[in-house]
Amino acid sequence: MIKTVGILGAGQLARMLAQAGKPMGLEFVFLDPAGDACAAEFGEHICADWDDEEALKKLGELSDVVTFDFENVPESSASLIESLCPVFPPPRALFQSQDRLREKTMMQELGIPVAPFHAVSSRPDLVAAVEKIGLPCVLKTRRFGYDGKGQQVLRFQEDMERAWQVLGDHELICEGFVSFDAECSIIAARGEGGHTVYWPLTRNLHRDGILAISMAPAFSEQLQTHAEALVRRLMDHLDYTGVMALELFLKDGELLANEFAPRVHNSGHWTIDGDCTSQFENHLLAICGLPMGDTQNNSPVLMFNLLGEMPGCANQESFEQATNAAIHWHDYHKTPRAGRKIGHVTVVANSGAGLQARAAQLAGALGVAAELNLESILQDSSTLQE
Ligand code: AMP
Repeated sequence: MIKTVGILGAGQLARMLAQAGKPMGLEFVFLDPAGDACAAEFGEHICADWDDEEALKKLGELSDVVTFDFENVPESSASLIESLCPVFPPPRALFQSQDRLREKTMMQELGIPVAPFHAVSSRPDLVAAVEKIGLPCVLKTRRFGYDGKGQQVLRFQEDMERAWQVLGDHELICEGFVSFDAECSIIAARGEGGHTVYWPLTRNLHRDGILAISMAPAFSEQLQTHAEALVRRLMDHLDYTGVMALELFLKDGELLANEFAPRVHNSGHWTIDGDCTSQFENHLLAICGLPMGDTQNNSPVLMFNLLGEMPGCANQESFEQATNAAIHWHDYHKTPRAGRKIGHVTVVANSGAGLQARAAQLAGALGVAAELNLESILQDSSTLQE
């Protein structure tokens, strides 16, 4: 029986895994180089680099199963631990997701639609890529890009020079720019014997490449079924165990895959407060070889990410007074820093109209209503259902 879960990474995802796992009777041990990692208060923290062999062995020895909250953990570190205890999701999934070129190539081979792409290692490659793909397009670093970092949008020929100056030192991928109608993500959990459960396809809004809002349910049954089939194909191919998120663009009724995350995902944080089993609970149940819980969510929910620092009225009671709504407040206890994900707030309602009203009030109280153009997003979500 599994008693102790090891986690490579001790950020907010590890923290929320531990918060879900403690009531299940699980203990946690974390490996993370950051001395102030925010999950550390929930278990032993091995403070060491990702490739510190002694530390990795210690994590493997203390744990009955190991998982990760961060996809840039070296695959070799996950494999070293695998010689001591099971690691889920499989290190191969890490390997595939760590390089955008490898990731897109695999998805294409699996018949998962993606925007056209081209590897770029030199200036002539970039010229050839832009010629082949056309403008606008997006130049991205193949590795270590997240939250829109390491990306340049090219709209005009002149942008090539600027983008090359910024990113030319890296191995790159050039992708077609998708003028999407909406962004969404399908989150699924695959357990023992390949049994897979799916949460409702979630609508996401990004600002400056960082997730700002997630909302569910937001799409038709037909799109849900289609998205489930796409993520299922990836998970089956990787013989996957645990939670995976597949980020998608919706364009003219078609889904195009952007990237997958082999871990619990920011766009699934609403599952903690929706009327379903959370992504954190099901991830732990899956990696412990236990039956997973129901993922059907019947109450409309909307999550706001909190970036930089916690808002002024930083406690649930005062927010509820300000918004006159029941909300769920999550503070990751991280040191404030510009653009840093430090918490999230979820609003749950019992109807679409109720969600609109509550979310608009909360956005007003958070001071993000105008910036996010929330009203039009909530309204056009009903159009996307068709
Ligand atoms: P990524 O780091 O690939 O997840 O990109 C962060 C965000 O940038 C995405 O969620 C989109 O909003 C935007 N983005 C990335 N790739 C593209 C693309 N090919 N076309 C249009 N927008 C994109």
